[in-house]
Amino acid sequence: MAYKTIYPYTNEVLKSYDDTTDQEIETALDQGHALYKKWRQEDQLQERKQHLLKLSQILLDNVDHYAEVLTKDMGKLLSEAKDEVKLTAKIAHYYAEKAEDFLQPTPLETNAGDAYYLKQATGIIMAVEPWNFPYYQVIRVFAPNYMVGNPMILKHASICPGSAQAFEDLTKEAGIPEGGFTNIFASYDQVNEIIADDRVSGVCLTGSERGGSEVAQQAGKELKKSTLELGGNDPFIVLEDADWGKVEDLLPSARLSNAGQVCTSSKRFIVLEKDYDKFIDLLQKSFEEVVWGDPMDEKTTLAPLSSAKAKEDVLDQIKTAVDHGAKVVYGNESIDHPGNFVQQTILTDIDKDNPIYNQEIFGPVAIVHKVKDEAEAIELANDSSYGLGNTIMSEDTDHAKEVASQIETGMSFINSSWVSLPELPFGGVKNSGYGRELSELGFDAFVNEHLVLVAN
Ligand code: NAP
Repeated sequence: MAYKTIYPYTNEVLKSYDDTTDQEIETALDQGHALYKKWRQEDQLQERKQHLLKLSQILLDNVDHYAEVLTKDMGKLLSEAKDEVKLTAKIAHYYAEKAEDFLQPTPLETNAGDAYYLKQATGIIMAVEPWNFPYYQVIRVFAPNYMVGNPMILKHASICPGSAQAFEDLTKEAGIPEGGFTNIFASYDQVNEIIADDRVSGVCLTGSERGGSEVAQQAGKELKKSTLELGGNDPFIVLEDADWGKVEDLLPSARLSNAGQVCTSSKRFIVLEKDYDKFIDLLQKSFEEVVWGDPMDEKTTLAPLSSAKAKEDVLDQIKTAVDHGAKVVYGNESIDHPGNFVQQTILTDIDKDNPIYNQEIFGPVAIVHKVKDEAEAIELANDSSYGLGNTIMSEDTDHAKEVASQIETGMSFINSSWVSLPELPFGGVKNSGYGRELSELGFDAFVNEHLVLVAN
């Protein structure tokens, strides 16, 4: 049994889950495919809309219950878990309300005749999702695809089975028919077999580059469409005319929310030489105010990491950075507690030849770089194999927009840390993946844009 809830605050095994059998997977594929065919014939968009609205309402009526499942699975602060539950409800509501509009035929300008394209369902989507936002990551792909008419099979991270189970139970309570959403506690081999199955039309994965590459290879081999949301090493650039009050307001949460385990949190702070000491002081002050502890306690501001392995990995990366010349400005003291705690840490002096220069640290570690001018800041921001998001702090927003356009990422946030809302597309370029989730772009990810031309 690979799927276990191990509470990150105590490392106690709370529950183990049985692996899904091949026969159960066959049933999920059969049911999903039958539903896809039925929806292609009968539409049933209004029924699906009601299901998603109900799902959204159940979440809002039971925020505490659903939030506690998240905290027990992967350790996030209960307050952050509650926010995740509410955002999940919001995304479900958004797609329920928007789908009819998004599905309207799109007219095309041509001299050849009357032309338009339809957006149609394509079949079952295999979703492989990570543990850091166990409901939010799932609803981002489930809600749009459900409204399109693509059933979904979910393989969630093996460390958050409680959330996966809770999400499946939620879909049942909302009236979603058998096969519309199926959670499986599957092995990688089983996922590969599902991707190869003719009844499956696409696969999406959010997670590491390794996982993304393996799943995308299988998708490529089987000629299935794929989208990938992978890691990030997002820069936070403080320009000459930044408002330091705003900078202060964004620290330390830009780096430390979700215990630093956010793909698009700010990981590399890029600051002009003249402002460097001032920035370090501000960042350190904000880190000193952080209180690690019980994630269920509302006074706690830093949660344990999601697993013992996650803690070990982050500590190894800090050690590698330091062994190659990085300076610890603050933190990196061991925390004597059975939970997976890593102290909030600030690293500087990471040169290009330091292995950590181009690595994502998925934990509460901020790296600060000093640059001589804006051009060097942009160059450093782009000197990364990742391209997910960035933050630019400047009071001249026109200029900040120009700077944003020069940065090779999928998202830019001006005078804000990362934001995710249903109507804003989310995704990256380079090794941060391809494709977009959320907004109309996410809705279109697995549709068949079906051209119809009535000749003149
Ligand atoms: P991971 O190891 O790739 O795991 C993510 C998911 O992929 C899990 O369900 C995992 O299952 C599964 N998986 C991995 N390899 C697989 C394979 N070969 N076949 C089938 N399934 C496979 O990633 P992680 O390290 O846990 O997650 C953290 C990463 O996700 C970070 O790099 C973070 O930046 C990224 N992330 C990106 C976004 C985004 O939107 N761009 C959002 C959140 C997180 P098991 O758990 O069973 O191994």
